[in-house]
Amino acid sequence: MAIPREAYQTLESIVGSRYISEDPVVMEAYCGGRMGHGKDLAVDREMNKIPGCVVLPRTTKEVQAAVKVANRYKIPYLPASTYWVTHCAAKRDNQMIIDLKRMTNLKIDEKNMYADLESGVIYSQLQEEAMKRGLYITTPGGGAQVAVIPNHLTWGLSPLNYRNGLPARRILGVEWVLPDGEILRLGSLSQDKDPFWGEGFGPDLRGLLRGWTGWFGAMGIVTRMAVKLLPFQPERLEMSGITPDTTLLLPVNRMKWYNFRMPDRKSLVEAMYEIGRSEIGAAATKVPIFWRYIARSKSKEDFWEQWGSDQAKNEVETNHILRVLLIGYTSEAQLAYEERVLMDIIKEYGGQMGKTRQSDESWIKNADAAGMWWMTGGYVSVEVTVDTIDCAVKGGEALAELKRKYTPPLMEDYGDPGWFQVSELGHNGYLEFLTYYDPDDAEMHRTDEWVYIAVPKEDIRVGLFNGFKIYESPLELTGAAYGPNVHHWMNKVKQVFDPNGLSNPPVPADVDELIEKVDYLKKDW
Ligand SMILES: Cc1cc2nc3c(=O)[nH]c(=O)nc-3n(C[C@H](O)[C@H](O)[C@H](O)COP(=O)(O)OP(=O)(O)OC[C@H]3O[C@@H](n4cnc5c(N)ncnc54)[C@H](O)[C@@H]3O)c2cc1C
Repeated sequence: MAIPREAYQTLESIVGSRYISEDPVVMEAYCGGRMGHGKDLAVDREMNKIPGCVVLPRTTKEVQAAVKVANRYKIPYLPASTYWVTHCAAKRDNQMIIDLKRMTNLKIDEKNMYADLESGVIYSQLQEEAMKRGLYITTPGGGAQVAVIPNHLTWGLSPLNYRNGLPARRILGVEWVLPDGEILRLGSLSQDKDPFWGEGFGPDLRGLLRGWTGWFGAMGIVTRMAVKLLPFQPERLEMSGITPDTTLLLPVNRMKWYNFRMPDRKSLVEAMYEIGRSEIGAAATKVPIFWRYIARSKSKEDFWEQWGSDQAKNEVETNHILRVLLIGYTSEAQLAYEERVLMDIIKEYGGQMGKTRQSDESWIKNADAAGMWWMTGGYVSVEVTVDTIDCAVKGGEALAELKRKYTPPLMEDYGDPGWFQVSELGHNGYLEFLTYYDPDDAEMHRTDEWVYIAVPKEDIRVGLFNGFKIYESPLELTGAAYGPNVHHWMNKVKQVFDPNGLSNPPVPADVDELIEKVDYLKKDW
């Protein structure tokens, strides 16, 4: 069965024959392969389908027309920008992928410090243009190779949010093709061509559009968005090295990394608090020990040799590393002042400064994180909680304890309590809990059990609101606990905006459907 011929021809007349395909080879390429962040997990293994066709619109009008055709012929569809996350894979027969990579308009308003862009624009392009103008934006830890719009609609998380604030606050005017094909403009874009203001004059539905982590293509398509840029420092970060070992050299008169070895976890946390209280710094994060081993390994074999040693195990228990980035945004004197304050804080809490390279591979513009799962072949982050720092530490400790039951097949990390940091100048804490696994392990179903059942139940037990688990868990389980009954609201909103259920079904309830389908995930709620 294929997309109805009449529908296909109509779509072809909208985007042109060059920008539509149902070629089986091309469809395979859009099928959601092995790319990290859970692409080997059961939702994708058991539920992914080969799409029916792909269209590549160039304009909002073309997106709108394609969505209207989908509604007329009842064709499920989903948007994809760079296709980094699992929810970009078709999960229904004859689904249409609307690939937005041709929508690459980008304008920067330097004076008012915002960028007005389309969904094909990725962070490295935006960041480069912003930095030329003395501005910057938080790029996600996962790398600057991802698109700006979907990242703002979903996560937008990085240690840089310590200074730059949470991503939802950066969204300004929005142009949104609703699931039924109607266009809705938010903020000042609704009245005018200028998208500078998110709140006014028109409707501000950003809470509904994104909430905490958005809809993953289940609420139509954002074709244009204005995002806030922030003041940076004026010096250029020079590129150094040859792919894949490239890095950006920091201008050390204006930007500097510091690594401190703290006596214990408590002092590390106290120092983070104090840094925030003193309103210094651009980022302050705890470094999981295996990151250091990844960074210094020459190959996968080398990693396993080093990571399997007693020294590695010992380091997880005894090494408490605090990594801080200072930026002299306004002047060299600002950097010098902040350095003095930082050293006073570290002295008070008994930290020792260690060596660090004055370069950046992850946070400012690069994409080295695109291979962060190479040690095992599979990677998924199972927790993202923005709450207090205390919640981050206790939550990470609880998950580390539970993880022992699932190791192996999960990679041994010797009880590391995850990656925690402070956001918004210390006003909130942040926890991420990373999981590595071998996707070819015979016990892979235990990894699924960990991701879809064990972690959500632990979140509920400990009281962690997990921004990943709202869509990577059974909605009937977590939805009932969060809110409470937040899933009823989600279902109601979805029903109002997408009565035909065509925008990326069955998101956000794909895990519920998975559990009905496989016998190794047991429903007891
Ligand atoms: C290994 C790894 C590490 C990561 N680490 C981080 C991190 O530290 N911080 C962070 O913030 N993120 C992280 N991510 C997530 C990554 O940033 C996402 O891939 C990104 O947010 C989505 O951008 P994308 O270009 O990949 O979008 P896509 O994968 O193309 O789309 C993402 C979702 O949004 C939908 N979508 C796409 N475009 C639109 C649109 N225009 N309108 C409506 N819906 C749309 C899609 O259907 C899909 O469900 C990580 C991902 C991986 C794989």
